[in-house]
Amino acid sequence: MDLQIELTDYCNVKCIYCSQHMDTGVHPGYKKGMMSYSNFKKIIDDFESLSIGDPKHIVFQWLGESTSHPKFSKFMKYVLDKNEKNNFLNNVSWVSNVITLDVDTVKLMCEISNKFTEIHFELSIDAFLPDTFASIKKCSEKKFNSVIENVKTIINYSNNPEKNILVGIRFIVLEENYREVDDFIQFWMEYCDDNNIQYTLVSGGAGAPTKVKISIWPYLGAWGKILNEDLYEDVLKRYSLT
Ligand code: SF4
Repeated sequence: MDLQIELTDYCNVKCIYCSQHMDTGVHPGYKKGMMSYSNFKKIIDDFESLSIGDPKHIVFQWLGESTSHPKFSKFMKYVLDKNEKNNFLNNVSWVSNVITLDVDTVKLMCEISNKFTEIHFELSIDAFLPDTFASIKKCSEKKFNSVIENVKTIINYSNNPEKNILVGIRFIVLEENYREVDDFIQFWMEYCDDNNIQYTLVSGGAGAPTKVKISIWPYLGAWGKILNEDLYEDVLKRYSLT
């Protein structure tokens, strides 16, 4: 059974390809907000006590950035303690920009289980250079280095045989970042090679699971229409991706 939790519908950045930040309320009729710790605990407790629904999977993602919740690390600690004997969760995943995470919280997320639980990260980076990153995410360039360090920490954890960690590193092809897609791919392939970590280069979420997936995504507009399709197709063609 899958449990998808939206810890908040706020986001800490304003990506130019996303409409999330344009609305004061992304859920019609409701203002944006943060989940309380008591509600979070009740949801986790209720989910754990369900006698049906095994194996259980929690995904921390919906319309906001989960990791920007001020109590995020406290929430993760609660899940970690619940899963101490690895008999609660079969899978836990995050889709995140990892911008506001400190290294201790990243480690906490990686420690949430040993190899009996699959831990899955989908990390949006979308840039090779700090100024491109800042102009796409509409945030300070200074955030870029901590994002790269967080991603490296997670990738390094994925190489631990006592862990079952899968990492997706995402790059959405835009006019603003197209010129550095090759550097981006090269950088992360070399990082995995240098650390002897299994990886694949894929389009979107395609392909069998590997420790690291460097994934190239199209820029999707309304009704799933691919924008900048010529740029995206060019990248797929050059790297023989389908
Ligand atoms: S981080 Fe995600 S939710 Fe936030 S603005 Fe970017 S794409 Fe949208």
